Amino acid sequence: MHAFDIYGLCAALASGALAVLYGVVWRAQRLRWSLIFGLAFLMLAVLYGFDAQLRPRNGLSQPLSAFISVATAVALTLGMIDYVQVTGRAAWVLRVLSVALGVLLIGLIFSRQITRIVGFGVLSMFLVAQAALALRARWQERGRGHGLVFLALISYPAVIGAAALGLFDMALLRYAAAVPTTMMGMTVLTTGLLRAQQQARDELHRRRDAEEALRRFNEALEQRVLQRTAELHEMVAALESFNRSISHDLRGPLGGIAGVSRLASEALEAGDTATARRLLPSITQQAESSADLVASLLALARVNDSELSPRPVPLNDVVEETLAHLRLADPDAQPLPVHVAPLPTVEADPGLIRQVYVNLIGNALKFSRDAGAPQVDVGAYPEGGGHVMFVRDNGIGFDPASAERLFEPFQQLHATSFDGHGVGLSIVKRVVERHGGRVWARSGPGGGAAFYFWLGPRLAVS
Ligand code: ADP
Repeated sequence: MHAFDIYGLCAALASGALAVLYGVVWRAQRLRWSLIFGLAFLMLAVLYGFDAQLRPRNGLSQPLSAFISVATAVALTLGMIDYVQVTGRAAWVLRVLSVALGVLLIGLIFSRQITRIVGFGVLSMFLVAQAALALRARWQERGRGHGLVFLALISYPAVIGAAALGLFDMALLRYAAAVPTTMMGMTVLTTGLLRAQQQARDELHRRRDAEEALRRFNEALEQRVLQRTAELHEMVAALESFNRSISHDLRGPLGGIAGVSRLASEALEAGDTATARRLLPSITQQAESSADLVASLLALARVNDSELSPRPVPLNDVVEETLAHLRLADPDAQPLPVHVAPLPTVEADPGLIRQVYVNLIGNALKFSRDAGAPQVDVGAYPEGGGHVMFVRDNGIGFDPASAERLFEPFQQLHATSFDGHGVGLSIVKRVVERHGGRVWARSGPGGGAAFYFWLGPRLAVS
C-alpha cells in the first residue's frame, strides 16, 4: 500500500466519523450549523475516500477534486457563520462573499488559470475567514474552546506557507490539510454541544425562576384575597354591630318619647294640664339626646368622608380656641383647670384636629369633674421624627384592660354616671389615623387618664 493511501484512508475515516457525529447532533438538536458541518465533512470523507482516483496527476489537480475541496471550504465557512451566530445583514454579506469566491475559484481552477499553490493560497483565505469568525466567538464567549478552533484554522495557512517555501513536499499538502480541518471539526462539535447544554441549563434556570416568581405571586395574591376577605368580614361585622348600637341607642329615647307623649296626651284628654306640662321637659330632653347622638354620628361620618385640607397648624392656637369654645358653652363654670404646655406646629387639617382636642379636653373635664381638685394637662414631646400629643387628667380613670376598646364606637365605661354617646373617641381615632398617626390611652393605678396621639413629621394621609 502506498503511504498516500494510508494518509487518505485515515483522513477519510476521521472526516467520515465527524460527518456521522454532526449528523447525530443535527437529528437530535436541529442546529443548522451541525447540518452544514456534517455535509462539509461528508464531502471531505468522499474526497479522501476516493483519494486514489482523485489525487493530482502529473502535478495537476483533478477538476472534481478541486470542486469538492472548494465546496467543502465554502460549506465550512457557511457553517462557521452560523456557529458563531453572526446574524442579519452581516451574515448574508459573508455568505454571498464565500459562495462567490468559491464559484470564482472553481472557475479559475477549471480554466487552469492558476497554479496549484495559488489555488491552495486562495483556499486558505476561507480558513483565515473562518479563523476570524472563531476569534469573534472567542471574544463573545470566553472559556468555551473557541481559541482551539482558531488555532486549528490558523495552522492551515502556515502549512501552505511552509509548502510554498519548499519546506516540505507539495504532494503532502493535500493530506496535511486534513489535520487542521479535523481538529477544527472536533472542537466545533465539542464546544457547540457544550454551548447547547449551557443554553438548555440557562433556559431551565430561567423557567424555574419564572415558575418560582409566578408561584410567589400567586401565593401573595391568595394571601391578599384572604386578607381582603377577612377585612371585609370584619367590616361587615363592625357595620352590623354599629347598626345594632345605633338602633339600641335610639330606641331608648324614641320609646321614651312615645311613652311620655302618650301619657301627656292622656293627661290632656283628662284635662290634667299640670301633669302634661310636667311631662313635656322629659320629651324635650330625650329628643335632644337623640339629636345629639345623630349629630355625633354625622360628625363621625364626616371625618370619614371629608377631604383633608392639611397645612401647618400651631397646636397651641387650636387648644386656645378649644378652651375659648368650652368657656363660651358654660360661662358660669369655674375657670377651666387646664394647663397647656408649649405645643408643636404640625401638618394637619385644622378643622379636624380641633375636633380631636374638643373631644379629648371635653372628656378630661367631664371625667375629672368629681375629683377634689380637677387638673387637666395638655402637652407634647418629640418621638419617632414626629410628636406625641397628650391630654391627661386626674379624674376617675378607667380599667387599663379596656384601653383599646374605648376607641370603638359606643364603648362607654361609665355610661350611667356621665352623659355622652361613646362616639367622641372613635372620631379622635379616625381623625388621627387619617393623618397617618396613631392613638392610645393609659390609665394609672392611682386614677386619672391620659390620651395620646402621634403625628409624623410629614402628613401620611390615609
Ligand atoms: P363619651 O365620652 O361620649 O361617652 P367617648 O368616645 O368620648 O364617648 O368616650 C368613650 C368612653 O371612654 C367614655 O364613655 C368613658 O368611659 C371613657 N373615657 C373617655 N375619656 C375618659 C377620661 N378622660 N377618663 C376616663 N374615662 C374616659
